[in-house]
Amino acid sequence: MKESKRIQKLKEKKVNHKLGIIVPYRDREQQLKRFLSHMKDYIKDIDYEIFIIEQADDKPFNRGKLLNAGYKYALDKGCDYFVFHDVDMLPEDVDYSYSDKPLHLATHLQEHDYETTFFDYFGGVTMFTKEDFKTINGFSNDYWGWGHEDKDLSNRAEHYKCKIERKIKYEDKDKGEYLKIFEDNHVREDCGKWGLAYGVWDKVAKEEQERYIENNGLSTLNYTIVSEEKLMDNVKKITVEI
Ligand code: UDP
Ligand code: MN
Repeated sequence: MKESKRIQKLKEKKVNHKLGIIVPYRDREQQLKRFLSHMKDYIKDIDYEIFIIEQADDKPFNRGKLLNAGYKYALDKGCDYFVFHDVDMLPEDVDYSYSDKPLHLATHLQEHDYETTFFDYFGGVTMFTKEDFKTINGFSNDYWGWGHEDKDLSNRAEHYKCKIERKIKYEDKDKGEYLKIFEDNHVREDCGKWGLAYGVWDKVAKEEQERYIENNGLSTLNYTIVSEEKLMDNVKKITVEI
């Protein structure tokens, strides 16, 4: 009797979660089409909604800020855990069910023959609970252009001791597999912040790290919603100026 109640509780816990998949987006129509049709077939038995957050303006692309905006939007829609998902990553063997620990999901990419990319790579696809993402104050809003906002995010998680897990143990080596879409000749302009994310971070005092994180992220986010469009039953595109 006792046991079955416990199991029932666990089951309730499982079905009560709602996943928000947040996709940063601008001008990749073919990739978006392919992504949406793939996800529709791929994800089963999970309560989820996809939010495409489109950058409306012509400023350099800002993945982190868009994902922060998407988090806030999806939180309002009742999501309690989040996957931040590049549009050009198609899951092949990936578990999207709730995790109370932050996860790096895109660990085994086809382009790298399904070997892990590099040891602290935290890009592509990541999962957070709403609580953990709030604790670390989300992404920095200040990485304009390509790259390094993912390392900044893992710095934040580390600072607040939200340990990131990866399913790269030997026995799980088939997990986290993604196919990356390559129809892609986009120009990438580096944001120029390698030094902040990789170079100096570990040398900066904890108090200074704290000040940096608290003054830049969800707490300082501002953006304007330009339009909202329902693309499918559980897919919405939200166009924002950031
Ligand atoms: N992205 C986009 N339009 C852009 C740049 C980036 O939609 O002009 C989004 C898209 O979801 C993409 C993600 O940001 O998958 C990461 O950018 P990119 O693929 O260029 O980065 P890389 O894979 O080279 O690290
Ligand atoms: Mn990409």
